[in-house]
Order: sequence, then structure tokens, then C-alpha cells
Amino acid sequence: MDKLSGSLAGILGFEKLSKYEKDYLHDANIRSCSYMGFIVVLLEVWMLIRQIYSKIIPKYQAGGDLFGLFVKYTSKYWLFLLIGLGLMLFCLFYQRDRKLSKGRFITLLVIGTACMLYTAVLSLEAFTKTSDTITPVMAAVMNTMLVSIYVFLFVIGASIVAYALLKYLKNRNVVALEYVAIISFNLVCLAFGVFVSYSDFWGGKEIICFLTMVLYVGCLLIYRPYISALILGVSFFGFYHILLTFQGGLTFAKQDIVISGVTKQITSGDTVNYITFFISLTTICFAIYRGRLNEARKSKALEKSAKEDSLTGLYNYSYFSELAEDSIRNLTGDVSENVLLFIDVHNFKAFNDQRGFEEGDKFLIALGKTISDLFGDSLCGRQADDHFVVLTKSEGLTEKLNALNDLVHDYDKEILMSINCGSYRLNSNTEDPRICIDRARYATQLIKNRFQTVHVEYDKTMSEAYHKRLYVINNIDNAVNNGWIVPFYQPVVWSDTGELCGCEALARWMDPVYGQLFPNEFIPVLEEYRLIHKLDKSIFESACRDLREAIDAGKPVVPVSLNFSRLDFELMDAATELDSLVAKYRIPKDLIHVEVTESALTDNFTKLNEAMNRIQEMGYSLWLDDFGSGYSSLNVLKDYQFDVVKIDMRFLSNLENNEKARTLIDCIIQMANRIHMLTLTEGVETEKQAEFLNQIGCGRLQGYLFGKPVPKASLYERIDKGELTVSDKCL
Ligand code: C2E
Ligand code: CA
Ligand code: CA
Repeated sequence: MDKLSGSLAGILGFEKLSKYEKDYLHDANIRSCSYMGFIVVLLEVWMLIRQIYSKIIPKYQAGGDLFGLFVKYTSKYWLFLLIGLGLMLFCLFYQRDRKLSKGRFITLLVIGTACMLYTAVLSLEAFTKTSDTITPVMAAVMNTMLVSIYVFLFVIGASIVAYALLKYLKNRNVVALEYVAIISFNLVCLAFGVFVSYSDFWGGKEIICFLTMVLYVGCLLIYRPYISALILGVSFFGFYHILLTFQGGLTFAKQDIVISGVTKQITSGDTVNYITFFISLTTICFAIYRGRLNEARKSKALEKSAKEDSLTGLYNYSYFSELAEDSIRNLTGDVSENVLLFIDVHNFKAFNDQRGFEEGDKFLIALGKTISDLFGDSLCGRQADDHFVVLTKSEGLTEKLNALNDLVHDYDKEILMSINCGSYRLNSNTEDPRICIDRARYATQLIKNRFQTVHVEYDKTMSEAYHKRLYVINNIDNAVNNGWIVPFYQPVVWSDTGELCGCEALARWMDPVYGQLFPNEFIPVLEEYRLIHKLDKSIFESACRDLREAIDAGKPVVPVSLNFSRLDFELMDAATELDSLVAKYRIPKDLIHVEVTESALTDNFTKLNEAMNRIQEMGYSLWLDDFGSGYSSLNVLKDYQFDVVKIDMRFLSNLENNEKARTLIDCIIQMANRIHMLTLTEGVETEKQAEFLNQIGCGRLQGYLFGKPVPKASLYERIDKGELTVSDKCL
């Protein structure tokens, strides 16, 4: 039963519509009203021309008074023309924000004034003319009626002007006026249809005008079905009733008719058509309503997905940027009181890894909600992953961020998360929010991994470093193509003999503007923007070329270690790229060592595992870089088979005074030996360190003690001078 009444309510349009759906239907109606206005204008202009040619000109030529004739034969058409024109223009200047735009404002002023003028002219004509055909009493009655009509019309004109002025000055919405326009236009249409068809009917003609007008109202405008049914019902049966008041009008009464000698009772053909017309029109209205509503729903879904972040329901980054751009343009008062925030969650990755994606999503949803609750009517969006962006006032910012941090901190008792937020203070109304967010994000990165620091503001001192980063991102292709990226080589020696057994290729960016840039200035940013593979490919190629040149020149050569970023395995087919360069320069494979840093191996990334296996199968030696710098060093040793383990340089700090550190490094080397991996210790700076490492059995050493990274030529200079002796056993 409930289902039945539910679906009946649905058919009749009693369902609750969302604001979006209502607005969508309203938009469509306003658009239709502008078409309707246009048609009325055309019709009325046509009627005026017809009246001028058929009535006014002949009567004028016969000696009539031109002004009087004009008023007599055109006055009602002017009124309709005025209404049609007003409706058309008012609806044409419609904006979604419903503000009284300039176009609408002028339309209202003109139409209101025209309405007042119209009544003024008509009353002038009516009251200066004396009629001798009617009695004084009749004349008085008619005058009173006319005065009332003219006063009424005049008041309407004046109200329109006053209303327009008032709303325009206050920059208010005029949605009420839109409804007034729609409703009054319908009434006028229907009244016109009834009026014309009524006289047609009694003139023995068809009631086409009435039918056309209901068709207009019914099909051009979309109402909820029950309203359509009501309007059409009242119109049809009202009109029918009016006709019935006169004898011999329409009738449902059966009539006797004789067909082939048989008397039959039939209903009038006209009557049936009349009812059928009503029913089909009502059905069409229902169908149009349904169709439009479905359209509205589809368009809403589309619009939603273009604007919303599907997980948190906040704005997505691109829509956020669009809105932020508008907001920034329209900021009034002190612009610098507004900030753009970039919020990042510290340790979210660990949470996601340990609790799973589903819990991770739940956390992000909760975080999105908390952010939008805390920042009230500010603009909030999600940039990507665990990164949120907000455009807000700087007042009370610290308290809000601290509150947010407390909530994030308490979210999981075991995995401690916190927030890092960078803010960028606006300088002017013309700033691009995307750049502001990028700066805020840059500031965030400076406090990343600093557990206690919740908030940092982007300032002038960051600006230079920030620009350098931008420069790197924008110029990586230039740098690669123009040879600004060069490998420097740092010696690797045997710990027992001190003889050169290899070198590590370390990238340097020789920039025409900034001079020499070091890896910490470009490697992290290139990784962040997923451009690192361009640099690495270039270094691989330069290293191979350098080797080929040395071989061709008959110089001694040692193996070169190449650094692979984890992203190289995502962004290119790293193994194939390397192998084809090695083939291109005809380099023996044992002259290339592949370094993969321990932090690249923390989670199980199949592509990387496969690539590392392939690299070893192809015949390259695989080295584990920065061993001991991460969280799961021992697991890495357990899960992968490396040829050489490079022990991170931090184990060497304070080695001389710290017994424990010595024991630890000793154990690491023993352990590596037991699992058949060779060892190298990085960052060796003193003779004592070198001696100790040799004693405990570390095979290779690398560090400033044996040489800093230098260009190829300087390395050969040192070899030529005898400062470095090339070992004849390099593997
Ligand atoms: P890494 O691979 O661990 O390289 C060793 C870094 O330690 C080098 O810094 C080197 O100059 C420095 N170093 C060597 N011996 C000593 C020493 O005795 N004392 C001290 N204090 N430092 C020493 P660099 O060249 O600045 O490179 C830094 C990091 O940048 C490298 O760390 C590597 O992770 C990355 N990197 C360098 N070149 C490339 C490259 O071509 N591709 C990729 N993906 N990463 C690179
Ligand atoms: Ca390395
Ligand atoms: Ca290293």
C-alpha cells in the first residue's frame, strides 16, 4: 500500500526535490520564458502591422484622427508587446546567481516606465474624448472602471521601477520576480486564449487560440505534474464551463443519429477531441517533467564528480583552485589576512601500511570532515593522498591547527600521526592559488618529519630556495640536452691495499645561472615531481661514454657504480635502458655496478623486484646502498641477494670514542660475510677509521680520505700523479 501511494506521489510529482533539481527546473523554465516572450513579441508586432494596414491607414485616409485611431486599434497589442518584451529581456539576462544584473535592471526600468507611459497615454485619450452615445450614469460607471484599471496598471509600472531600484542598489536576489514573471505570463497567456477563442467560438470559428495557449503553457514550462494537471484542468474545464453558460455551446449530451435506418446515440466529436486533447496534454506535461528531472539528476551527478573528491566529499584540487581563484579576486579589506594552507599527515604511510587501505580511507574521510568543521565557511579541498588545502583567514589559525593536530595525534594509540602545515600569506588579489599552494607545500616539506612542528609560514628566505626548485623542475630537459648534468667520480679503494678498485658516479648540475648544484638541491625535487629518470638516464649515458673514451684512449679503467632511484623502476624500464646503453658503448658488464638504496625496498614492489633480478641475470653486480639507514635493514638483507652491501656513513660517526659503535659495525661485517655478501663502508674520513675497518674485514672503503667526488679529468690527473694506484683486480 505504501509502495502504491509512494509511486502515485512520484507520478504526481509530490516527491521532495533537492535544491539542485529545483534550480535546474527553474533554469529551464526561465529559458522557456525567454522563448515565449520572443514568440509573443513577434506575434504582437505582426498584429500591429496588420492593424496599421487594414484599419488605421484606410480610416485615416477617410479623414480620421490618427492618434485616436492608433489608440483605438492598437492599444491592447501594445500592452501584450510590452509584456512579451519585458519577459523576453528579463529572462535573457538571467544569471544563475539570481542577482539583478545590469541588463535585467535596465529591462525593468524600461518596462516599468513604459507601463506608466502607456496608462498615461490611454487615460489621456479616454478622458478627453466625449461620448454622446451613452447615458451620463453609464459614462460615470465606465469612467470609474477605466480609472481603476489605469491606476492599477500605473501602480504596477511604478512598483516595477521602485522594486528594481531598491534591489539593484542592494545587489539582492530577484528570484521572487522570476516566479511573478512566470506565473503572470501564464495567466496572461491563458486569459488571452480564453478571450480570443471565446469570441471565435461565438463567431462560429474553432477554438484554436485557446488550444494553442494551453499548449504553450503546458509544454514550454515544466511544473510538478499535480500543478500541470491543476492548471490544465482549471483552464480546460473553466473554459468549457464559460462556453456552457451560453445556450448551444459545447455539450457532452448524447445525440441521436440515424445510420442506415438505425438510430444510434453518439457523443459529439468535438467534445471527445476536447477531452482527448486535455488528457494527452496532461500526459505530455508529466512526461516532460520526468524527462527534465532525470536530466537534472544526471547533470548533478556529472557536476558532482567534476567538483568533488570522491573519498572525502571536499572539493577536488582543480575545482578548489578555480573557486580559490575567484575568492582571491573578490577579497576585500586587507588581503594579507588570508592564507592558503597545505596540510600533510606525518606518518600516514605507516598507518596505511599497517592498518590497511580501508582504515586509511576511513581516516582520510574523518580528517576531511574535521578540517571542514574546523575551518567553517573557508574553502577546503583535498589535493591528493593525505594532502589537504584550505583558503582561510589567518586569525586563530594556530589554535585551529593545534586542535586538528591533537585529533590526528589521538586517532591511533600505536601509530603516532601528526600534521605538518605550511601556509602562504596572500599579497594581492591577483595571485594564482596554484602557485600559492605550491609554496605552502614547499614550506610544509621543510618541517616534514619534524614531529613537534605543526605549522610553518612560507617567507622570503624560503623564496630563493623555492625558486631554485621551480627552476630545476622547469629546466631538467634543458639541463639534460645541454650537458649541464655531469657525473663526478668518487674513488672506492680496497681496504687492505688502498688501491683504487672502483668509483661511484655522483651527479652534479653545472648550471649557467646558479653555478654548481649538488644532489640535495635537485634529486629530491626531481623525485617528487617524478622526473628523476631523466637525470639518471643522462648520468648512465655519460658514465658509459666516459668509460668508452677511457678504453679507447688506452687509459686504465675501474668499474663505475650508478645510483638508481626507486622511481626509475616505475618511470622507465630501468634494466633495459641500462643494458641498451651498455651495449651502445660496448662496455663490459662487469664495469657497471648498480646501487639501489635500502629505503627503496621497504615495501614489496613487484616491478622493482623483477627489475633487480633481471639486472643480476644480465650480469651486473647489484649493490645495496645506505645499509642501516632505514627501518627494516635486516629484512632487506634477508629478502634480497646483493653482491655488495654499502654500510651507511652514519655508523662511522664517533667511532673512535664509542665502543658500541665499533662492535656494531664489526657485527654487521661478520653478518654480511656469513651470508656471502661483500662489504663497503662509506664516509671514511680518517686513517683510524680506515685502519679499523680493514682490521674487522670490511673489503672496500669510500670517503673523503681517499677523495671527494671530482670530474673525470681530475680523477685521471690524480692517477697520473700517482696519488691513486689502480688495482689490477677490480672485482
Ligand atoms: P650516496 O649515494 O649515499 O652518495 C654518497 C654521498 O656521500 C655523496 O654525496 C658523497 O659526496 C658523500 N660522501 C662521500 N664520502 C663522504 C665523506 O667521507 N664524508 C661525507 N660527509 N660525505 C661523503 P652527494 O654526491 O652529494 O650525493 C648525495 C646523494 O644524492 C647520494 O647519496 C645519492 O643518493 C644521490 N645521488 C647522487 N647522484 C645521483 C644520481 O646520479 N642518481 C640518483 N638517483 N641519485 C644520486
Ligand atoms: Ca650511492
Ligand atoms: Ca650511500
